[in-house]
Amino acid sequence: MADDLHVIIFVDGLGYAWLDRTPFVNSLETVRPVRPGIGYSINIQTELFSGELPDELGLFCEYRRRSPKGSLSYRSLAAAMRAFSWNRRLSALQHKVLTRLGLPVAQIPFEYLSEFEHVGYSVFTERRGPILPQARIVSWTESKRPYGDRDVDTVESILASLREEQDLLIVGTLVDIDAIGHIFGPGSFEHDSHLELLDQRLEQIYSTARQVNERARITIVSDHGQSKVDKATELRLPVDLRRELGTRLSMFVDSTIIRFWSSDRVLDAEVKGFASSIGTVVSDADRKRFGIENVDFGTVVVVADDGTLFHPNFMSGYHMPRGMHGYWPDLESQTALFADSARFEMPDRIVASDVPRYLQL
Ligand SMILES: [Zn+2]
Repeated sequence: MADDLHVIIFVDGLGYAWLDRTPFVNSLETVRPVRPGIGYSINIQTELFSGELPDELGLFCEYRRRSPKGSLSYRSLAAAMRAFSWNRRLSALQHKVLTRLGLPVAQIPFEYLSEFEHVGYSVFTERRGPILPQARIVSWTESKRPYGDRDVDTVESILASLREEQDLLIVGTLVDIDAIGHIFGPGSFEHDSHLELLDQRLEQIYSTARQVNERARITIVSDHGQSKVDKATELRLPVDLRRELGTRLSMFVDSTIIRFWSSDRVLDAEVKGFASSIGTVVSDADRKRFGIENVDFGTVVVVADDGTLFHPNFMSGYHMPRGMHGYWPDLESQTALFADSARFEMPDRIVASDVPRYLQL
């Protein structure tokens, strides 16, 4: 098959649960549910294309704990900003300005800022794994259109690349369905209509590829599904834990995952007790299964219940999206998909880190 054209389309946030809305994808020869990795894009997209779990990759979630603790400049910046943060709107505005200035601070409260650093990593730019080094990558990052409307450009570039007939392996990344899910929620009119549009675009890509090369193969892979957000949990640490913050305890509150770092087992047990009241604490066995055994990823990791958002959180502040992912990977709502125009033997259900094996046939 090596001389044939192979188009791999990565679709951010295309859930297996919505296959009835995507008849073209559903009609492909091989269609399977994929259990995603735990976490967010940075590690789960990598898992899909390189097969590496966070422990092997050394990364889990977009912000990691700095070591040694905080740079002086960040500490003084945080102190200065804090002095001017009278209310949450002002604080959100300050974060926005700093982000515009090129400092990746998301909505991390200023008192935590010096403890964490942003990890600038994408598997598509790092070209990690067996496929990406040889592929022509057509990335959503090349689009100048707004959030939720970027695929038009990407699809056009993919079609143009196909017509040029210069590459045998093309990897395209479509991201609008994830964005629309965040804005309107899965199950909304907007999300349903976009699924139909996405399906038509994928079909167009495949038929163009077949015109160029009649044995062309298309593979569609996604990194996760999405859940409708209908509940918010405000993090209220018990007083005895709160007073350890900044010394023996630190934490990073993502929208659906909180990572705690505590200095000893006694404190860890206390944190676990509290964490299990707000979500599911990832057990040692599951940390092994998901490949997040490294304690640098947190001594305690807790995942929100399906459809619940930790609110406010360090990523989106007080903003409430209507759809979210990053919940427990085994949930049906989070299940991703693998679809291929080629017919081959494959288990009924796979995990994300198995995907590279099937990409390469
Ligand atoms: Zn997303």
